[in-house]
Amino acid sequence: MNNNNSFKITDPLYTLAVASKLSETPAHSIRQYIDKGLIIPFKTAKKRHLFSRIDVLKIKSIKKYLKDQGLNIAGINALLSVVPCWAIKSCDLDQRYQCDAYHSIMEPCWMASKKGPVCQNEDCRICDVYIFPEKYSNPKGCIKEMTNS
Ligand code: SF4
Repeated sequence: MNNNNSFKITDPLYTLAVASKLSETPAHSIRQYIDKGLIIPFKTAKKRHLFSRIDVLKIKSIKKYLKDQGLNIAGINALLSVVPCWAIKSCDLDQRYQCDAYHSIMEPCWMASKKGPVCQNEDCRICDVYIFPEKYSNPKGCIKEMTNS
């Protein structure tokens, strides 16, 4: 018998209604987060969204940014754009310069229209850069960890 622990944290498990309940966030707000690229839930062949446990955690983090820190969605995207994905993915200088995520200050790397060679065939939904909401709701903490300072 499956229990919750047999699923990976990135597995698409929940419908929009369930994700809404688990995150205590209205469905229309979650749809807005998707439209703005803050979360990237799985899409079924019938174009329905399915959310992972990580997606639910990210929704909760976004709510905190909006409510407690007074950011708007554009501000959250800008904040997430400073996460040093190139260091996490060990892109060399040449690879960085081929990637829009390295240059953008307006959106998280998974929203980049032209990804560099390291990420072109990656599934962002299961990437380290996407899956640690606690870390990335605090980009400064992430940079400290990256720079060991
Ligand atoms: S795979 Fe996607 S989420 Fe991961 S670093 Fe590349 S663009 Fe960002």
